[in-house]
Amino acid sequence: MMKNRFFVWILLSVFLSIPSLSYGGKLQVIASIFPIADMARQVGGNDVEVTTVVPAGASPHTFEMKPSLVKTFASAKVFLMIGAGLEFWADQLVQSSGQKLKPVVLSDGMTLIRSADLHRDESVKEAPHASNKSAHTEHAHSHDSGNPHVWLDPHLAKTMVTRIQEALSIANPDHASDYENRAKSYLGELDALDKGISETVSQFSTRQIISFHPSWDYFAARYGLTLAGVIEKTPGRNPTPREIADIVSRIKAYHIRAVFAEPQFSPKVADVIAREAGVKVLILDPLGGETLVGRNTYIGLMTYNLQIMKEAMQ
Ligand SMILES: [Zn+2]
Repeated sequence: MMKNRFFVWILLSVFLSIPSLSYGGKLQVIASIFPIADMARQVGGNDVEVTTVVPAGASPHTFEMKPSLVKTFASAKVFLMIGAGLEFWADQLVQSSGQKLKPVVLSDGMTLIRSADLHRDESVKEAPHASNKSAHTEHAHSHDSGNPHVWLDPHLAKTMVTRIQEALSIANPDHASDYENRAKSYLGELDALDKGISETVSQFSTRQIISFHPSWDYFAARYGLTLAGVIEKTPGRNPTPREIADIVSRIKAYHIRAVFAEPQFSPKVADVIAREAGVKVLILDPLGGETLVGRNTYIGLMTYNLQIMKEAMQ
């Protein structure tokens, strides 16, 4: 009996003393969304264990926090997030985790696109129906703290990778040189990705895109595309009939060949718009995920999206 109790005591003390560097000595890292998780894995290699909070197919904009995540947060040492209001559910998790987990906000210091200065083409005023200025003046937006979709610009992704490298090095200095080496070679891959996108986009015959939600603003600004319309200006909120009519008139005015839906949201409205405008619906994916073949790395995801854009715009 005594022996048993002692054994339980030993087990308990071992369990309670498990440090953050557990699971075979790997640094425990949490990433809010998949693109960040992949970057952390590229930099951290086998020295990190990365958990993604928002699962494949879900949107961070409409994500419902699960209580079970508190445990994940309690055992982690690094929490990587975008910021700019994307992870509206994170504060509660960080606070309730019990540990002093300081989030690493990857968009800090970046010049964020505000809804007021979105890269939209004002010349559409000449198009029919466009006299109502709803698309430009309505700021019922969830991105008031700045548009959070910085990762879709590979240049900003490079800044994120460098920040991730710094955060991992601070959390686990023993592997600082490994992180540095991996980051260096990954940054080279991102340069190649950027070059590939530039070359492909330069051959596009049209530069206007209709995006599903305001996810492609940084990408468009980087590569000289123009957002001719956004279907859901507030993710999860359907456009009004007037907004739908406005988007349809823009599609016709610009001879746009496709509207883009996204796997994290219902394609219903995009289908309605496409049918009315007589164009097709293609799927752009701003998030990807571990379980999605071809979109299970950030570079794979961006390559997929480029192919889809090419289909619609070349
Ligand atoms: Zn989004």
